[in-house]
Amino acid sequence: MASRGEQVQANVLVALLAHGKPTSAYKIMRDLQDGQPKIAPPTIYRALAALVEQGKVHRLESLNAFVACQCAHHDHPAILSICDDCGAVEETVAPKLLNQLTRLTKKSGFAAMRHIIEIHGRCASCKNAGAQS
Ligand SMILES: [Zn+2]
Ligand SMILES: [Zn+2]
Repeated sequence: MASRGEQVQANVLVALLAHGKPTSAYKIMRDLQDGQPKIAPPTIYRALAALVEQGKVHRLESLNAFVACQCAHHDHPAILSICDDCGAVEETVAPKLLNQLTRLTKKSGFAAMRHIIEIHGRCASCKNAGAQS
């Protein structure tokens, strides 16, 4: 039997997967309120934080939004490429690159704890659509 918290996490993940693109916590709350009118923001934020912690959801800092993880590499931080036209998010896992960044920052005595790498641009299909018009 899943706890109430786990149940909310499952619902949040389903809502994020249904959107398939970066979604704000507010929008997720509105989705869940369809079935549970009394669900409150702290409940949503707790569920999102737990999902991010588990690597099942990525937080997009530059958009203040969340997206469901698409890869099977929950243990690596991902490089997230965000299409500014359609909102598609692509994940690239490059542990070596991240290690290199950690080494670079270490030179000044900095202790890296987590990497947030987001790249904005246009995805392949939006780029092609733009080239045709
Ligand atoms: Zn991922
Ligand atoms: Zn696109």
